[in-house]
Amino acid sequence: MKWENLTADQLREAVKESNRTVVLPVSITEKHGHHLPLGTDTFINRVILNKAEEILPSMVVAPEVTFGQGGETMNGQGTIALPGELILALLEGICDELHRNGFEKILIADGHGGNEKCLPFFSQSMLTKRKPYVVFTVNTWYMTGEEEKALGDKYGWDDDPGHADRDETALVMAYDECLVHMDLYDPKEPHYFKGAEWMGENGIFSAVHWPMERETHVTGRPDLACRELGKELCNIHARHLARQVRLIQEDEKVMMRYRAFLESARFNGQ
Ligand SMILES: [Zn+2]
Repeated sequence: MKWENLTADQLREAVKESNRTVVLPVSITEKHGHHLPLGTDTFINRVILNKAEEILPSMVVAPEVTFGQGGETMNGQGTIALPGELILALLEGICDELHRNGFEKILIADGHGGNEKCLPFFSQSMLTKRKPYVVFTVNTWYMTGEEEKALGDKYGWDDDPGHADRDETALVMAYDECLVHMDLYDPKEPHYFKGAEWMGENGIFSAVHWPMERETHVTGRPDLACRELGKELCNIHARHLARQVRLIQEDEKVMMRYRAFLESARFNGQ
């Protein structure tokens, strides 16, 4: 059930059918090498969510947020990197509106690796604001080690997955093959700058690490991508997502405990 496709009355019914659960897709608009479109993460999220909705028809999907944390690729043409505080304010405003429309369990479906730190932080920051809803987050590219191994054995291993790689290329092919330009892919593109490894090797994080090391915004083996792999990936990711949404839909304990938590966190005058 896509928010935009429903009538106002259908949405009211959807609140009940979904047990007050809504999925909010969040991604980014950014450069993905020379062979993939700027909307890569949005399209991947969309194709996975479409499949997940087939598996779980009670799933309600809010309008897509195509902006996220994009600082690391802002040296690439086409990236729209909003300031962090604006992203947090935007998400808060949207979640307030989702709640005003009757939803109290909000699952952010993250389609962009660069959001991996800011979305859980957003969920945490909602606690001190004592919001009357709970924000959950998942990465839509989740799969198990066994699933990953089976795909590697079948389609060839991507030695350094992460961006515009085998899987992202294959998933965009599954969404719309016309948007992938393998003729523009240069095998020398996955180029790694040497000299930044010491951070990762010593447990040090810096926002400059990713853009320093991955100068061309391409990692791994996009040349291994094919539409069949994209469809398999889409099915795997969608199965996990549908299960995650169903678990949240069925749960009653978290909201109950969250309300008790807020009550016990009140200033009691002592
Ligand atoms: Zn991407």
